[in-house]
Amino acid sequence: MISCYLVRFVVIINYYSLFDMSKYIAKNEQDRCVACGVCMKTCPRDAVSIYKGCYAIVDEALCIGCGLCEKACPAGVMHKVIR
Ligand code: SF4
Ligand code: SF4
Repeated sequence: MISCYLVRFVVIINYYSLFDMSKYIAKNEQDRCVACGVCMKTCPRDAVSIYKGCYAIVDEALCIGCGLCEKACPAGVMHKVIR
């Protein structure tokens, strides 16, 4: 009985966490991106790839908007924005 309440609590918390995270997404300034790949290595969701060695692109379906890539980008061209 107690475990049922515990599972329900965890599900609710995870739902709101996911909802909150999904409000944001990473977008970069492709014309200023130097394709260093730091954001790609930093992303915990493997949501970033380097397009033809030219600039980073973000897979919107995978990105959870955590902002780690924004913090890691040495050129300051990756940004966490509202979806
Ligand atoms: S915001 Fe997070 S999940 Fe989205 S691309 Fe950046 S590091 Fe990956
Ligand atoms: S870390 Fe910044 S400069 Fe490097 S590939 Fe990612 S967006 Fe481009």
